[in-house]
Amino acid sequence: MANHTDKISVETSETSKINTVDFSNLDFGRVFTDHMFVCDYEDGKWQDPKIMPYQAMTFEPSARVFHYGQAVFEGMKAYKDDDGKVFLFRPKANFDRINKSSGRLAMPAFPENYFFEGLEALLKLDNDWIKPGVGNSLYLRPFVIATEPAISASPANMYRFMIICSPAKSYYNSAVRVLIADHFSRSANGGVGAAKAAGNYAAQFYPTSLAQKKGFQQVVWTDADTHTLLEEAGTMNVFFRVNDTLITAPTSDRILDGVTRKSIIQLAEDLGITCDVRAVTVAEIKAAAKDGSLKEIFGAGTAAVISPISAFEHQDELFEISGVDAEDSYAKLFKQTLLNIQHNLSDDKHGWRHEV
Ligand code: PMP
Repeated sequence: MANHTDKISVETSETSKINTVDFSNLDFGRVFTDHMFVCDYEDGKWQDPKIMPYQAMTFEPSARVFHYGQAVFEGMKAYKDDDGKVFLFRPKANFDRINKSSGRLAMPAFPENYFFEGLEALLKLDNDWIKPGVGNSLYLRPFVIATEPAISASPANMYRFMIICSPAKSYYNSAVRVLIADHFSRSANGGVGAAKAAGNYAAQFYPTSLAQKKGFQQVVWTDADTHTLLEEAGTMNVFFRVNDTLITAPTSDRILDGVTRKSIIQLAEDLGITCDVRAVTVAEIKAAAKDGSLKEIFGAGTAAVISPISAFEHQDELFEISGVDAEDSYAKLFKQTLLNIQHNLSDDKHGWRHEV
């Protein structure tokens, strides 16, 4: 068993880019902080963890990631409270998930101590990039790619794990309109849908672009066999509110086990809101939209926290969701409750905050 005791070496950048960044006007994922964390897998073990200035890297054209797509990633955020304390939200779930994703793509698991020590060292160095205020955050992107220069179609023997960080602006997310998939599929039984595999996202771009041409921002994916079960959206799990009951699909090997999703299921229990985790059919949601019992649909994910969905189309039939008053909205309630926990503004009875 390889030991993972190398000390993280730190090379700091000579100058900071922070003064060139307009924090009030950030496009998601375009600006990166001064540093990044890098660790390589070679000779059967992860080694040489280091923090270095954010910079371009070179890889051989034969690096396996370019040919066979051995690449997995995570998305998480750091938050700062008004006293300058920095928190992560349920980071162990992201750690577990990246290793689950790696396992599915025949990639080696990353050691827990390097993951947390790397994250913490990086956040200490780039602390000024984390702005206080509800909605502001530093988006963290851990990822792993196969770097071995060899194009035989088999798992690589060399990998690189990295974490890069991008400041994210507090933004009001307006409701989105979605198209329910009835031809294309995102995942299949026994496939890689439950992994945060890079290729899952590439495969969605084309069908999503067709939906966008029709005026829908996102696709809600259905099961590949029958296209009758509602599963999840591009980067969000989906919740349906019928009367006062929430419904969301169970996780499976087709659906990503979202951190926001499982937090909402727990918060619903805390708040005395019934949340049924069960297969959701397209037919029942259409029927509920028709008889007026469908009150809300919303997506749940780290990037936007909660995205209300105002309309959906299925097989050329369009359904507008009339919605509920703001004070009765579950989407709003869960968003506020989660943001308050993330920003250290409320109790954290489940121990979800992880102070850095
Ligand atoms: N589903 C998919 C396919 C995703 O990419 C994401 C974003 N990670 C989610 C759901 C939501 O997961 P989380 O709440 O952990 O961000």
